[in-house]
Amino acid sequence: MRFYNLNAHDETVSFKQATQRGLGSEGGLYFPEKIPYFDEMKTLLKQDFITRSIHIAKALFGDELPDDAIKRMIKNAFTFPVPLKMLTNSIAAFELFHGPTLAFKDFGACFMAQALLEFNKENSMPTTILTATSGDTGAAVAHAFHQLPHIQVVILYPYERISELQEKLFCTLGGNIHTLAVQGDFDDCQRLVKACFSDQHLVNTLGLNSANSINVSRLLAQCFYYFEAVAQSPCQDNLVIAVPSGNFGNLTAGLLAQQMGLPIKSFIAVTNANDTVPRYLSTGQWQINSTVATLSNAMDVSAPNNWPRVVELYKTLGKKPQENLRSIAINEKKTIEAMQELYKLGYIADPHSSVAYAGLKHCVKADEYGIFLCTAHPAKFKQTVENILQIKLPLPFALEQVAKKTILSTVIPPNLAAVYSYLKNLA
Ligand SMILES: *Cc1c(COP(=O)(O)O)cnc(C)c1O
Repeated sequence: MRFYNLNAHDETVSFKQATQRGLGSEGGLYFPEKIPYFDEMKTLLKQDFITRSIHIAKALFGDELPDDAIKRMIKNAFTFPVPLKMLTNSIAAFELFHGPTLAFKDFGACFMAQALLEFNKENSMPTTILTATSGDTGAAVAHAFHQLPHIQVVILYPYERISELQEKLFCTLGGNIHTLAVQGDFDDCQRLVKACFSDQHLVNTLGLNSANSINVSRLLAQCFYYFEAVAQSPCQDNLVIAVPSGNFGNLTAGLLAQQMGLPIKSFIAVTNANDTVPRYLSTGQWQINSTVATLSNAMDVSAPNNWPRVVELYKTLGKKPQENLRSIAINEKKTIEAMQELYKLGYIADPHSSVAYAGLKHCVKADEYGIFLCTAHPAKFKQTVENILQIKLPLPFALEQVAKKTILSTVIPPNLAAVYSYLKNLA
């Protein structure tokens, strides 16, 4: 599969290059030149998740990777279940949070790690993943790359500004996972990472890669589970899917899967109070307000970085997003009510999944079957869920294990010299 740069259409790259570079020149996102179409959809939907994903991945990457490499990537990346839970006779929850860090970002991170591992086999260039996190994304990346040969991972996060459990989830792994607690805030961490990436010598010698969510390998990894959602659905026509959205990567993957022939009637892009997209779709004005903090904090994004891909996708179809995409913003009160309503149906959902459910309820029509995506395990937002539902949540096994471990981070001052000296020792 080849990709072009949305900011410089003449610049085209292979999947390997797009994965290794992340962003194109002028900060442009990569977008697939041609999206494959699966005529054999009925057969595909009868297959199990791994068999089907291998088939799809061959169509996407078969021009660059041999079949056995593709099989390995899929099998090693997707080692966890993706259950669809029927809640009523017209609504189901699709649980994407059974990966190592209990959030859907594990899909993208694990697949990207496996892709880089395969590419590293072709040429033994060093690869160093360097990324800043305010909590969650770092954990998914750390677990995905842990113990992979010839890959070092360096994660910067703000010292004493994330919860202990969050910190333990990615700072206790050791081995090739290096965590730096920066004596500053998240912006300092991002600034330092950015400065490293603007040093071409450092980028080349260490093979720096940010592994962030705009990477095409993470994006395409998310297409596979949409097929699984439809495969498990008791109703395969009139299907609508509500996606809790922040940077709109998850939604973009869904739209790509739809273009591949997956029978999804419509998507509902649901945001929290950070409502740039739903406002744009109803008014035609793209206006970015300042970001507000909400219960669904992984979606606190007012300038969604994948939106240009959504626009491009509709452009290639000769359409505008507002013609096909439903979208709604859900405020805090409605989020809380949705969580309570779900609890009455016997289902405990985290705040992000609750936002998706509220959006689905609002936008689904009487003759449609609705699926909402559950992007995080409720225990990841234990305090919030316990307060709203007035219940006690047990810690899931993965979190309970991690709570006993020792933090292995190195504390550094918020300056580039400190990061450089750490990186030099790695090389
Ligand atoms: C990242 C994240 C989202 C938002 O996904 P996007 O692809 O950025 O739209 C939603 N829920 C959770 C739990 C997340 O971590």
